Amino acid sequence: MPRIRQDNVTAAQWSTNGEALGSPDLTVAGNQVFGANVFNTAVQRQRLPKDVFKALSSAVARGEALDTSLADPVAQAMKGWALERGATHYTHWFQPLTGMTAEKHDSFYGPTGDGTAIAEFSGKELIQGEPDASSFPTGGIRATFEARGYTAWDPSSPAFILENPNGALLCIPTGFVSWTGEALDTKIPLLRSMDALSKSALRALQLLGDDSAGRVFTTVGPEQEYFLIDEQYYYQRPDLVTTGRTLFGAKPPKGHELDEHYFGSIPERILACMMETELELAKLGVPVKTRHNEVAPNQYEIAPTFENSNVGSDHQQLTMQLLQNVARRYGLVCLLHEKPFAGVNGSGKHNNWSMGTDTGINLLEPGDTPSDNIQFLFFCAAVIKAVNKHQALLRASVANVGQDHRLGANEAPPAIISIFLGAELERVFETIASGEAAASSDNGFLGLGTPVLPPLPMHGGDRNRTSPFAFTGNKFEFRTLGSSSSLGLPNTVLNTIAAEAIDELADALEAKLSDGTSLDEAVVAIVKDAYVANRQVVFGGDNYADEWHTEARERGLQNLPTTPDALPWFVHEQTVGVMSKYGVLSERELESRYEVAVEQYFVKLNIESETAASIARTMLLPAAVRHLNELLASGREGLVDEFAPLIADFHEAIVALEQANGDPGLEGMELAHYMRDTVVPAMTAVREVADTLERLVADDLWPLPKYSEVLFIK
Ligand code: ADP
Ligand code: MG
Repeated sequence: MPRIRQDNVTAAQWSTNGEALGSPDLTVAGNQVFGANVFNTAVQRQRLPKDVFKALSSAVARGEALDTSLADPVAQAMKGWALERGATHYTHWFQPLTGMTAEKHDSFYGPTGDGTAIAEFSGKELIQGEPDASSFPTGGIRATFEARGYTAWDPSSPAFILENPNGALLCIPTGFVSWTGEALDTKIPLLRSMDALSKSALRALQLLGDDSAGRVFTTVGPEQEYFLIDEQYYYQRPDLVTTGRTLFGAKPPKGHELDEHYFGSIPERILACMMETELELAKLGVPVKTRHNEVAPNQYEIAPTFENSNVGSDHQQLTMQLLQNVARRYGLVCLLHEKPFAGVNGSGKHNNWSMGTDTGINLLEPGDTPSDNIQFLFFCAAVIKAVNKHQALLRASVANVGQDHRLGANEAPPAIISIFLGAELERVFETIASGEAAASSDNGFLGLGTPVLPPLPMHGGDRNRTSPFAFTGNKFEFRTLGSSSSLGLPNTVLNTIAAEAIDELADALEAKLSDGTSLDEAVVAIVKDAYVANRQVVFGGDNYADEWHTEARERGLQNLPTTPDALPWFVHEQTVGVMSKYGVLSERELESRYEVAVEQYFVKLNIESETAASIARTMLLPAAVRHLNELLASGREGLVDEFAPLIADFHEAIVALEQANGDPGLEGMELAHYMRDTVVPAMTAVREVADTLERLVADDLWPLPKYSEVLFIK
């Protein structure tokens, strides 16, 4: 049997991972594992001295700074709890600008001098760590000689225990700052943006007549798409191993044309893997809710119930990590790349986002009463205003090299940001804009003797899957994120730009109210002005259509197709303005993020292009030459004539790519442009010939597993 067929047979085997889960009786309390490995409020209440618990929870609830005298007793309790669960080490768990998480483990145990060791963990170690930070990207903020960075405990995201077959690790979520105090991570700006939004929203709520709320939280519910493929194929493809995506591969005879995969019954092996992943996530307190097959073959989705943005964002990092870890137990590999297979749908992450008070009110939920609706319209108008003004920054916040294959590829939203409100809500705004809402008395827009609005639809009604930013009944769904994206930056941007718009509308409201205008009339007028000034960003049509590109240009919307187009918005005047006004990111911090993102872009492309050149030169070209030799040996000239020119083309394309891969002597954004404009086309040219060759070369000579295998054997 040729090599590839044997591999397919092996790939199709799987074991149940020793029936890892068993089938516990879930009506027995002890069998409920949700949060079992989390130092959550319940555990804290049980283990902390009463006054410490009270002080800690109220600081967290109010988003206030913690009294450092609490650190020692909390550390004591945390240590005791962790040791009981077999943890030998602890780590400050943080999210540097790599987009991934980082950890350095320290043992709890220290020698006592008499040949034994005792477990030690003080408040100081809980609050602050000092990782040798010289190797994390900082975009020039911290030169290597001043390598000190600090991690700082985030008490608002509970510590948790990661299990390993050989032990356990206590993870303490932390922020990561330079010794000069600049954020070097994604968590700190996110926390700052949540504070900013809370302040603005509370101020607006007071003006709107609600002074019961003490804090407004932003919430996030991410829907994560991913692929699961057999590890046989993964390890046979150097492109997947080093870049996370296939750099070669002809379109298979069968794709998702039959629409048989989406919401299809989940294959048993995949479901087993999902169940174990979910169990692990449940132990960590991640509220996983839904699972289903996605559109592409071997593509799936997992989504939790929404949480506050900080915790939800930490949980999302854990979800990505556990999806990858658990897959290996089933002989699978989880791909989180935005576009692992050309010509096949890529993977995104839908960032469902809203704002809610600590009194339980979702500010983006239309209510049953006119006054609820006044509030809803106010906040909704603020979001429309914010998204229109900062559309390019939103686009930049989700830019990465993988996204360039996905956005605008007629399967994902375009690189143009617009808002879908749904027909009903759009009609409400249009009615307000036309002035009818406050004027007429018989069209249902008047009630209670004041110019208020009718009850709004609870659920957005119609859906528009092509929209990058859609209102879905009680939240906005920002759909442009890539599957590998951390939630930190996009939510930092959303929160901050919303805070700014809310403040601006609140200023206008304050002015009108002090004129003696009634609240309802004032809000309707403000909503009208905001909507009219920003309605260009509202679009209910097909975002995949070519006409939309033309129309968007006419409307003056930004179209930023590639990462280098989008990234300069990190340091645009308008961005610096809003980010520094709200103390979320200083100009220096924005510059550092810009530099890191530019560098990640060209470095990743360089890795791809060198991998492509090497696979083409050392795996595919030899296979093609062997095939040619067989044709020559067969003495069939027709076959040789047909095939030989392709080898010449291939060789030429490879040489061109190798030349493009040489050092162009450029830096920063210029290098990014060079990669995009010179190297990427050279890679594409090599791939084009290779994919043709794949269909011609004898199957047993072709060294890479094909899409028809990788995507269909489960
Ligand atoms: P669909 O695929 O239809 O868009 P899902 O049920 O897969 O919907 O996911 C919807 C996501 O939106 C879930 O994660 C859900 O928890 C989240 N969500 C619901 N309400 C809110 C809210 N107020 N804020 C943020 N996310 C929310
Ligand atoms: Mg979904």
